[in-house]
Amino acid sequence: MIINDMYERMGITPETTKKGQEICDLLRERFALIDQTAEYNQLKVLNAFRDCKVSEACLYGTTGYGYNDIGRDTLEDVYAHIFNTEAALVRPQITCGTHALALALMSNLRPGDELLSPVGKPYDTLEEVIGIRESKGSLKEYGISYRQVDLLEDSSFDYEKIKDAINDKTRLVTIQRSKGYQTRKTFSVEEIGKLIAFVKDIKPDVICMVDNCYGEFVETVEPTDVGADMVVGSLIKNPGGGLAPIGGYIAGRKDCIENAAYRLTSPGLGKEVGASLGILKDFYQGLFLAPTVVASALKTSIFAANLFEKAGFKVVPDSNESRHDIIQAITLGNEERVCAFCEGIQATAPVDSFVTPEPWDMPGYDAKVIMAAGAFVSGSSIELSADGPIKPPFAVYFQGGLTWPHGKAGILKAYQTMADRGLL
Ligand SMILES: *Cc1c(COP(=O)(O)O)cnc(C)c1O
Repeated sequence: MIINDMYERMGITPETTKKGQEICDLLRERFALIDQTAEYNQLKVLNAFRDCKVSEACLYGTTGYGYNDIGRDTLEDVYAHIFNTEAALVRPQITCGTHALALALMSNLRPGDELLSPVGKPYDTLEEVIGIRESKGSLKEYGISYRQVDLLEDSSFDYEKIKDAINDKTRLVTIQRSKGYQTRKTFSVEEIGKLIAFVKDIKPDVICMVDNCYGEFVETVEPTDVGADMVVGSLIKNPGGGLAPIGGYIAGRKDCIENAAYRLTSPGLGKEVGASLGILKDFYQGLFLAPTVVASALKTSIFAANLFEKAGFKVVPDSNESRHDIIQAITLGNEERVCAFCEGIQATAPVDSFVTPEPWDMPGYDAKVIMAAGAFVSGSSIELSADGPIKPPFAVYFQGGLTWPHGKAGILKAYQTMADRGLL
């Protein structure tokens, strides 16, 4: 068959291709459900474009101060429609996800306020934002305290302790949807809704913010549909659809977004300034593609979970678990396997397929890390990418896949590279 020839040109044997096909046959129903979610979300995005009257003029940008940037303002309106919120801030001047989260926190908290995380430790980079690890300019330096309630053993919320932790000073509650690179499970939007309802029942005026990174368009609902006051994320992950080359967003209550805008630019200026330069077409088109791109990434991770679980490896989430983000972890058990896996992913990348990734001492990490990324946008993790810290249990984390056929090829090549070296 001609398709086998194509795989063989990538060094993937007919035997491996056949294994992959058997897995695909088993996953047909599940993939159909993912396609249904993508269909719903595509219509959600399309209706937002229509309702906001996105026009050709919106695709061009402004320079200088960026007053009356119709494309920028309309895009923010589109985001607000999609996330079912009063307002949104979507800007290339928001440099990454961490920046968007820091902005949402720093602009909505004041000295004397307290921040509460009822879902355990937040994403690594937020530790310095909050001041859990000492850092210049942290919330702690500005007199904003932090409290954390860890999850119970089974990743569920510790409602008793959360109730005790909410006090007069509690102003903002931060909930991270995706597990990121921790071992807990990722929360469904429904679970997040229950937690928010519980918090608001105790203290109605508390701001509930959700770190939405890696979660956008995985379900048909978003946290702002179930009571969140703000959702925050990165445009080089899900909602950028692989096309946005930079950026972050915050969608939410009007007063929260105003606070964020005044902090991003300046008091008095807020959303009125911030030229979009020539970036808007990519923001719009990426958002338009995002629902199907997220579906491709989801299929890729479910496919990998099934292939590697069958080969005897521990996978998180497992082969049957429901999905609430696009991250997949596979415990490979030794350095050779982690390297072989990452080399396979790299070898099928559209960019830099000919380079061999090697473990290196990355700043901020306590062990060497190997990374596979052959991306159009540097560091983009909606594109197929993998990384593995070289330390027990030798797990590799991967995510993304702009198209499902590419994701499938990448996973098969990772598997093949391990097979070729006798590591399976
Ligand atoms: C990626 C991520 C962040 C930080 O985003 P960066 O763009 O890497 O700064 C924060 N929280 C979660 C859950 C993430 O996945």
